[in-house]
Parts: sequence; C-alpha cells; structure tokens
Amino acid sequence: MELLYAGVDLGGTTVACALADARGQIVQDAKIDTQSHAGPEAVLDRIATLVKELSQAAKTEPTAVGMGVPGLVDVDAGIVRFLPNLPTNWRDVPAGPMLSEKLGCPVWLLNDVRTATLGELAFGQGANADTMAFFALGTGIGGGIVIDGQLRLGPLGAAGELGHQTILPHGPPCGCGNRGCLETLASGPALTAEGVRLLHSGLAPRLHELVEGDPGRVTPKQMAAAAQHGDEAVLDAIHRTAEYLAIGVANVVVTIHPELVVFGGGVAQMGDLLLDRVRQAVRRRVRMIPTENLRIELSRLGNRAGVLGAVALAAQKTSRET
Ligand SMILES: [Zn+2]
Repeated sequence: MELLYAGVDLGGTTVACALADARGQIVQDAKIDTQSHAGPEAVLDRIATLVKELSQAAKTEPTAVGMGVPGLVDVDAGIVRFLPNLPTNWRDVPAGPMLSEKLGCPVWLLNDVRTATLGELAFGQGANADTMAFFALGTGIGGGIVIDGQLRLGPLGAAGELGHQTILPHGPPCGCGNRGCLETLASGPALTAEGVRLLHSGLAPRLHELVEGDPGRVTPKQMAAAAQHGDEAVLDAIHRTAEYLAIGVANVVVTIHPELVVFGGGVAQMGDLLLDRVRQAVRRRVRMIPTENLRIELSRLGNRAGVLGAVALAAQKTSRET
C-alpha cells in the first residue's frame, strides 16, 4: 500500500486535518474547533486524537505529519516561537517534538502561508512552475516565495512576508510596526472597512440592499456582487485594492522574475473582477522584464491549500530523510 502522510492546518478557530498520499490524493479528512483558550498542550492533544481517528478510519498510520501554524516557527527544531492570533501566543512551544511523541512518527512544522505555498506548488497552479510567489489575502496578507523549485525560507523561516512590503510611505500603521504595508491597504479588513464607509455614506445602494443595511455583513464577496450590479464607488474601492496589490506583485516580479503568481484567501474569491485589474496594472508597471508569459492566477486548492501543503511538507521531508 502507498505511504500516507497527515497534513494539519492549525488556525485560530479551526484545525483542518487530512490523510493523503504523496500525490495529494486525500483519503480521509476532518475539521475540529481549535479551542485555543485551553492552551497548547490541550490543543496538541486534540490534534493527535484527530490524526489517530483518521488513521483508524483509513486503516493505516501516517509515515510523517506536516503542520502549518499561523506565525513564527523554528523549522529545524519544530518549536513554535510566536503565534500572535492564538491565546497565550504560543511562545516557545516545542509543538513538533510534543506531537511526535503523541503520534510516534516525525512531525514537521512550517508557517501556514509558506505551507500553503508548498501545497500550491506541489498540487495546485504551481505543478509545473519553477519560480512562483503566493499571496494569501485574508485577515492579513501572508506570502511565500519559491525560487528554482525550492521554497525560500531564510534563516528564520520568515522569508516571503509579502504583506509587509511598504506600498505607501506615510500610509496607515501596520500591526508589524511599519506604516503603509500592503496588508494595511489590501487585506480583507481594509477592503471591508471601505465598504462599510461607503454603506454609511449612501454611495453604495446595491451593497446596502445586499447586506440589508447591516455593516456587519459587508464582505469582499458582497462588495464584488454590489460592484457588478452597478455600485460605482464600490467598484472604485476594489480597483484601488487591485492597484495596491499590483504594486506588491510588480515589486516581486522585478525581484525574482517568477513565471507564476497565485492569490489565495477570502479577498481572492472576488475572482477576475480583482485579478484582471491586477494583471493589467502589473503589465503596466513591470517594464524591465517581459510579462507575456507571467501567469497571475487564483489558487486551485482554495481552503485546502493549507492541509495539502502540510502533506507535501511531510512527504518532502520523508523522501529527503531516506
Ligand atoms: Zn506590516
């Protein structure tokens, strides 16, 4: 029987887990609530239980486990350094060794967006790509870079923080301490805040209908629908977001000359309304490198990029160890 790997995507509210083979064929998968208030030990216990349940259902043990975590990781030691969005912040938790002991197999950790990048490279849009960049457009903006077929990690596993490149020198303050980062201008909350402002100003009648006047229901997806139904001001806001993203993409294109740029995350679900504008603006801005063959695409794996990336991580590490 073919070897199976477990992929775990640890999020602030949900843990997704899948058992799959090295080609990314999922055999079993499940999701549980993170319940992160209970602390790292309890969360890791529940992840171990989930992996064991999936293994029992599949009637085979995973050869290794990969896990994406939302923050900074010491990749070699398997130590979580800092998870800003989880209670207790998970400072210096040896999650890799702890989980490995519970499961009796090797466990490999990586930042969650770098993990999703690996998933997209192995099983998604990047299947034939050599050099690519991945932008995860969600609550924040995460990123990952692949150069010559290799995920670029850097000494701290922090290379590829594409959301924290400066786009506006005097722009809004960012959680990282800088001002005008791409994340402050083009993340889900940044776009949604602009939608809510337009809702209150009376400049977004279609959006008002769609969310029944409730600002809490404004999402990038609703804004895309409103723009397509005639809300000019909302369309302008989306185009501004696309322009900021295009500046971020153009910076990456002139730096590493990728053949592929992939967008994932909730904001990317606006699809071609956003992407076409980004494509045009990138071509307008990048003049030193031919862009005819540059592909700018939506993630093919969607919200499975995380677990499949973790499977790819486990499979890759296993094949390198043997
Ligand atoms: Zn920043």
